[in-house]
Amino acid sequence: MKNRYDVIIIGAGSVGVPSAYFLSKMGEKVLVIDELSSSGQGQNKSAIGGVRATHSDPAKIQICLQSIDIFSNWKDKVGTDIGWKKGGYCFPVFRKKEEEILKSILPIQKKHGLRIDWFDSNKIKKLVPGINEKGLIGGTFSPNDGQVNPLLASESFTNEAVKLGAEFRYRERIIGLIAKGSNLDLAINGVKTTKGEYKADAVLNSAGANASSICKMAGLNIPVNPDSHEAGITAPIRPFLKPLVVDIRPGKEGKTANFYFGQNTEGQIIFCYTPLKIFQGENRQATSEFMPIMARRMVDLIPRFKNLIIRRQWRGLYPMTPDGVAVVGKSSKVEGLYLGIGMCGQGFMMGPGVGLNLTNLITKGKSLLNHKVFNLLSPDRDFYSGKKEALK
Ligand SMILES: Cc1cc2nc3c(=O)[nH]c(=O)nc-3n(C[C@H](O)[C@H](O)[C@H](O)COP(=O)(O)OP(=O)(O)OC[C@H]3O[C@@H](n4cnc5c(N)ncnc54)[C@H](O)[C@@H]3O)c2cc1C
Repeated sequence: MKNRYDVIIIGAGSVGVPSAYFLSKMGEKVLVIDELSSSGQGQNKSAIGGVRATHSDPAKIQICLQSIDIFSNWKDKVGTDIGWKKGGYCFPVFRKKEEEILKSILPIQKKHGLRIDWFDSNKIKKLVPGINEKGLIGGTFSPNDGQVNPLLASESFTNEAVKLGAEFRYRERIIGLIAKGSNLDLAINGVKTTKGEYKADAVLNSAGANASSICKMAGLNIPVNPDSHEAGITAPIRPFLKPLVVDIRPGKEGKTANFYFGQNTEGQIIFCYTPLKIFQGENRQATSEFMPIMARRMVDLIPRFKNLIIRRQWRGLYPMTPDGVAVVGKSSKVEGLYLGIGMCGQGFMMGPGVGLNLTNLITKGKSLLNHKVFNLLSPDRDFYSGKKEALK
């Protein structure tokens, strides 16, 4: 039947695209709808491509371990290079305070199977050549983490999903959900768009920064509120830096909570900082203060960065939840509605793992991850319990 699918996915982004791939692989008839002109044009392309399992929340750790497995084997399995670089993540430490924070989460990280440890300053100097040694105490390093190119990944997952039969409709906006029977509060079985209506027994909301408004169409109030972050990229230089580096010290300038950067497979340094005062809302205009602040922090940490040439800067959105943890699962209030939303600053790295678990949930009724761990992402949890992820 025309316009009838097994699963409709709202949003061809970091979560929607890998979900389409895994669902199609399971033989589901999949339709993906996005209001933009191709896959990955929402927040996916804002990501700097860091992929780590070194979190403090067990569900994030486990999901990202699954993502790393998928990203790192993609080229061998599918034949397409998505820029995977296994350089690990390094958190250099200069103050007792940060040492205590990072050491306090090592036991939980190790308990969940992560390869991560604390190393002295000599090892950190080798991992981050040219690092300013003044005050360097040591740091953590997790060798299995890495980096991927978000646009290459999005394109490749889309192409593979299409080969398996998935349909992608772009420049089409979801404007409503279709109620099954007469009561939208109980069940949905389709979507209304700016161009038509489509039916499916399962609808996956993976609408990123706009996810709350899709939930509201089903009468659900799930708090996903965007805030904006800036990033940039340099002209390529000779490869010298293996890990993605995160400096969790707040900046002396009083504006940054931390900053991070890595060298991608093209040799470019790609970088980003977390503002101390969060910019809530959807403003994506680049600011004039970002580059001077970022440059100061980068040159202070690695003085030889003073010779870098900046090629481009941009600003994108984190779809944030109050507790800093994503919302993944089946709505207990609206039958037929699945959620892969609230990805915060880790949606790109979580995307494939989330897609894999949602595929299992939709086709087999249960997640791949242990139910107890997966439930930490539940849409029914208390978002305001006060517990927050330490490594947001
Ligand atoms: C500067 C910066 C750096 C970052 N770095 C990293 C990083 O290193 N690693 C990492 O893992 N994450 C990173 N992130 C976060 C990451 O980009 C996001 O968490 C992730 O892209 C969110 O994925 P998503 O699938 O939820 O949303 P998106 O990728 O934005 O996909 C949602 C899609 O839904 C579509 N959509 C929304 N509403 C509708 C509608 N009504 N109708 C049709 N289509 C609709 C949108 O057009 C969009 O394409 C970074 C973010 C920023 C801003």
